[in-house]
Amino acid sequence: MKVKLLFGLLFLFTRSLSAKEGMWLPFLLEKMNEKEMKSMGLKITAKDIYDVNKGSLKDAVVIFGGGCTGEVISEQGLVLTNHHCGYGTVQGLSSLQNNYLLQGFWAKNRDEELPCPGLTVTFIARIDDVSAKVKAGIDEAMNETERNKKVLSNIELIEKEAEKSTGLSAQVKSFYYDNEYYLFLMEKYTDIRLVGFPPNGVGKFGGDTDNWAWPRHTGDFGLFRIYANRQNKPALYAKDNIPYKPKKSFTINIKGVKENDFSMVYGFPGSTAEYLTSDGVAEIMNVLDPARIKLREIRLSIMDEAMRSSEQIFIQYASKQSRIANYYKKWKGELLGLKINNAIHKKRREEALFQKWVTADESRSRQYSNLVEAIAKNYAEHKNAILLNEYINEAIWASELLKKGSIYGRMLSAIDTIKSIDSLKQYAKEMQSFYTSISLPTDRKISQKLFEMYAKDISADDLIDDAHIQEIYEKSFLSSLEKFNQLIQVEQKEDIKTLIKQDAAYKTFSYYDSLQKANLVFLKQSVLQLNRLYSKYLVALREYNKGKQFYPDANSTLRLTYGKVEGVVPQDGMIYTYFTTLDGAVRKHNENSTEFTLPTKLLQLYETKDYGQYAIQHKGQTTVPLAFLASNHTTGGNSGSPVLNAKGELVGTNFDRIWEGTMSDILFDPNLCRNITLDIRYTLFIIEKFGGAKWIIDELNIVK
Ligand code: ASP
Repeated sequence: MKVKLLFGLLFLFTRSLSAKEGMWLPFLLEKMNEKEMKSMGLKITAKDIYDVNKGSLKDAVVIFGGGCTGEVISEQGLVLTNHHCGYGTVQGLSSLQNNYLLQGFWAKNRDEELPCPGLTVTFIARIDDVSAKVKAGIDEAMNETERNKKVLSNIELIEKEAEKSTGLSAQVKSFYYDNEYYLFLMEKYTDIRLVGFPPNGVGKFGGDTDNWAWPRHTGDFGLFRIYANRQNKPALYAKDNIPYKPKKSFTINIKGVKENDFSMVYGFPGSTAEYLTSDGVAEIMNVLDPARIKLREIRLSIMDEAMRSSEQIFIQYASKQSRIANYYKKWKGELLGLKINNAIHKKRREEALFQKWVTADESRSRQYSNLVEAIAKNYAEHKNAILLNEYINEAIWASELLKKGSIYGRMLSAIDTIKSIDSLKQYAKEMQSFYTSISLPTDRKISQKLFEMYAKDISADDLIDDAHIQEIYEKSFLSSLEKFNQLIQVEQKEDIKTLIKQDAAYKTFSYYDSLQKANLVFLKQSVLQLNRLYSKYLVALREYNKGKQFYPDANSTLRLTYGKVEGVVPQDGMIYTYFTTLDGAVRKHNENSTEFTLPTKLLQLYETKDYGQYAIQHKGQTTVPLAFLASNHTTGGNSGSPVLNAKGELVGTNFDRIWEGTMSDILFDPNLCRNITLDIRYTLFIIEKFGGAKWIIDELNIVK
């Protein structure tokens, strides 16, 4: 959260905002974008996309879990999202007997659908501008802390009132660096069940090698269903809950897309920093990305080796590994893209022009002349703190056992109020499930290597030297369930407290936890100041770029982005054509590679060309289209988003971006940045022919 805040806080500069750049607020489309969208081919209205008074496309777009997007595709609450968005959930449902990651899962009917504890699907009921209310009582004389306090208390009040009057959950979010605020009213469903999930050989085909890359052949989708109570309202899991009846579900078009077709992506992009100054970009390029890449590389190499050595470890680490590897590779691509595109230099040039515009006018000079400089100063001041925070997160907390030291803090605060020592049993339960999710030898190896890096790059603390690692992993009460049980069986509360306080895992955990918290106090102050500066900077930029539409940075709120289905020239002398097919996947198939093995059944379907209504003719062959490229501005969080044609019909599911355009979160280049979409025809082909789940196809509304 805090890191996200920081990243969000670090931004700024002006560049021409092309048609394809931008993550637009759906309720402002009519005012800001509809005309341009129509000129690019849109056949429906802005109101069809977002309307609070009647069912519109927005009612079929959901937040899937904590950070992905999903889309409702049937009248019975069926939700389509990415395989990588459901991966953690399906890992949790898997065991050595039922390894759904390797074998896939296809329910044969509703009764076979699997409940997914902890998984949620959230709808947006409406969005309102509450800028004036949030800013009430704030004046220029206030310092950052006073201002922040007032803003937060206003927000709390607005959210409380909104929740009371609507019965929905409410959240106020800041836009354009606190220049505007919007209230989101949401409804969260908690009984979600797994319906269909292709095996890794389809859903993760190409693995880390193909991730963030084109040409792509990953069938990155999963199917879930929302269940509700008899009133169609959110309810905890109950066997007799019924499928949710949506206000709106997407019509699926299997006619396919052509080059230059208009396309839109509707979803919840997570975080971008498009307006960073050159110094903000420099911080990412010189400090943050290199540190993260270096540390994750070490962690991943240990995990990968361990996962290859045992299926048990494979299941334990599959989801963690994917999450860590995903951003590791993204940062690598981002760094490369920023370097190749001379991002810092570009920003400096823009800043020079901006500065010239500022100094050309006396009133502007008075307001804005020191802005860029002040921002630079702030970055310089928090450089060490931001690096420390990153290292604590990526090196110290990479030790899952050490991170679990947080349990001691909770035990210490509970222990005085509990009636009997028996109550401590809940912690043993928690530890038991913790041990099933990790391999202690692997975790120890990771800690050894990463603590070494921390000692080398930050500080050689003796709390993380080899002797302490040995203590933590061999002697501490967290080092096994048996030892933990010994601790909670000690009869006197005071003795337990003393034992905890002497424990090596407790000491090391507490030290880094306090260090991080203290560091964050400083960083938070720095972020507040930086935010304030960027807030002004955006006002200045909008004035400087009068007449241009500005979009706010992504912040996990509902956005629409639009562009065209199109290929790209990613490098000199190279062309990426706009779509791939099953034939390309088969060409990549390699039984000796864990990443590129297609399931036998899919190879058989390929041999017999049993593609049903999803077949196309391409270069004289009968095949199935698999993925396509488009120039839609997307980011993480857009994973699983519906990709729509000019009529608002579903033609695919967004799942990635190309390597050469990975820097789009910081610098969007319309000539280079492309999102990658899984063609809906491949999804349906896999469900029907590979998964044998025609009953799912039958509940969809498919047009040609
Ligand atoms: N593949 C990406 C992700 O996992 C989606 C994107 O960033 O375009 O977050």
